[in-house]
Amino acid sequence: MLGLMQDEPLLIWRFLEHAGRHHGDIEMVSRRVEGDIHRYTYRGALNRSKKVASALDTLGLAQSDRVATLAWNGYRHFELYYGVSGSSRVIHTINPRLKPEQVAWIANDAEDRVFCFDMTFLPLVKAIAPYCRTVRHWVALCETEALPEYSGIPNLLSYEAWIGAEDGRYEWPVFDERLAAGLCYTSGTTGDPKGVLYSHRSTTLHAYAGSLPDSTFLSARDCILPVVPMFHVNAWGVPYSAPMMGAKVVWPGAALDGKSIYELMEAEQVTCAAGVPTVWLGLLNHLSSEGKRFSTLRRTSVGGSTCPPAMIDAFHKLGVEVLHGWGMTEMSPLGTVGALRNKHVGLSWEEQLPIVAKQGRAVFGVDMKIVDPDGEELPWDGKTSGDLLVRGPWIASKYFKREQESLLIDGWFHTGDVATIDADGYLQITDRSKDVIKSGGEWISSIDIENIAMAHPAIAMAACIAVPHPKWDERPLLVAVKKSGANIDREHVLTFFAGKVAKWQIPDDVVFVDVIPLGATGKMQKSVLRERFKDHALPA
Ligand code: AMP
Repeated sequence: MLGLMQDEPLLIWRFLEHAGRHHGDIEMVSRRVEGDIHRYTYRGALNRSKKVASALDTLGLAQSDRVATLAWNGYRHFELYYGVSGSSRVIHTINPRLKPEQVAWIANDAEDRVFCFDMTFLPLVKAIAPYCRTVRHWVALCETEALPEYSGIPNLLSYEAWIGAEDGRYEWPVFDERLAAGLCYTSGTTGDPKGVLYSHRSTTLHAYAGSLPDSTFLSARDCILPVVPMFHVNAWGVPYSAPMMGAKVVWPGAALDGKSIYELMEAEQVTCAAGVPTVWLGLLNHLSSEGKRFSTLRRTSVGGSTCPPAMIDAFHKLGVEVLHGWGMTEMSPLGTVGALRNKHVGLSWEEQLPIVAKQGRAVFGVDMKIVDPDGEELPWDGKTSGDLLVRGPWIASKYFKREQESLLIDGWFHTGDVATIDADGYLQITDRSKDVIKSGGEWISSIDIENIAMAHPAIAMAACIAVPHPKWDERPLLVAVKKSGANIDREHVLTFFAGKVAKWQIPDDVVFVDVIPLGATGKMQKSVLRERFKDHALPA
């Protein structure tokens, strides 16, 4: 016997429709790339998102066609989130920090039909436009007057003129909630970037879970400032959870330095925020050098990399609670959050700090376990570490266009992280088995770095490992064996990388060793190298 409740599909446009109707007067504020502050309400955002949906109809886009964005956090990007997904197309958010060739590769792989970009990325778009085979329309997120007279970009439209031609009368379509809504490529795997394809259902469930009291406690009394980019796992779901809760949103645009963020927080009375540790370091440094405090900020979600206990403590001293979370692009991204349990409430801050500094407990909807190399489940004793496996309704089962390869083994997704779980269910990430390095929240493929190094005529063998870094969390170190008789130094090797990877992906340092340890199967034992060089002093 089936239940007799209404079968309303969980569709993304419902978030904004709800906000427009029930929180229509709540403000959304954006620092624009043009430099000024833009403000309007959820009612205005709803109206303009509907114009985007109609404008896509006018271009003849079919259901599930991809619309790429290369943009900072701002109201126009938000409108695209809804206009594109709400009208049954797929928003494909692209990371502008990648090399132009990679951006073009991703746009071709995704078969993007329309490509929307902030004017700050005009030089990048000019460079890639001739190589993007499927893009039919390029949309610059600006007024018509701001368009360059000659760009060389075919069919270039101004966003304002494009949506300005529509009247905003639009009925959102109703369709299967399992339809794709968003696409985000991750470089946190070996080989080419992989597309993670979110559905309306997964995104909706994730937004609910992400707003729960032990997740972010987001409410209609909040004003949230997401520094985490809308091009990185949907800004951790804030574009969906904020309208769902009726929270005011402040988008920081491209000004991510400590001073700009602090001034925006104070001016808009921000109560909660979200971002990777590197941006918070800039903010905390600004506050300490200026001797300032927050007047309204009460909590911030921190994730993407380990949040150092010293940072959690610094925020605590400023009256701000850190919600340390762990997740992945493949997990939409939310997995765990380090909220206290009832039995911890009476503890001193010194006793609470090591608990909240862990990556936290699984939110409802995410199931997790740690296993040994044979797949046997390991105990939750806070000491035994193993490969971390997860499952749940907002976790990927396959990558886009690789539908023949399931990502699941016996129903579980292998995260590539190594962790302990304690008796209270708190996860702690202790290592990573995947061959990637995370610097300031962005991935560097150690295999790409090694392949380039191995192409150097004087290098016999090379391993690229992560070394802890106070600002970027991790930076790449190249450990290399010289060919016999070769006479090269660090500078030689580093110069060899120029132009072959993005500048920020070039290793910080090179150390030469006689041998790189190999395991039984002939694989380089990077865990041994990581241990050996964990205190390596990188050049300033
Ligand atoms: P991404 O898919 O780019 O969001 O990266 C996900 C990966 O970042 C995870 O698999 C972890 O390796 C790492 N990560 C995310 N959050 C944390 C955290 N709080 N602590 C340590 N590592 C993290």
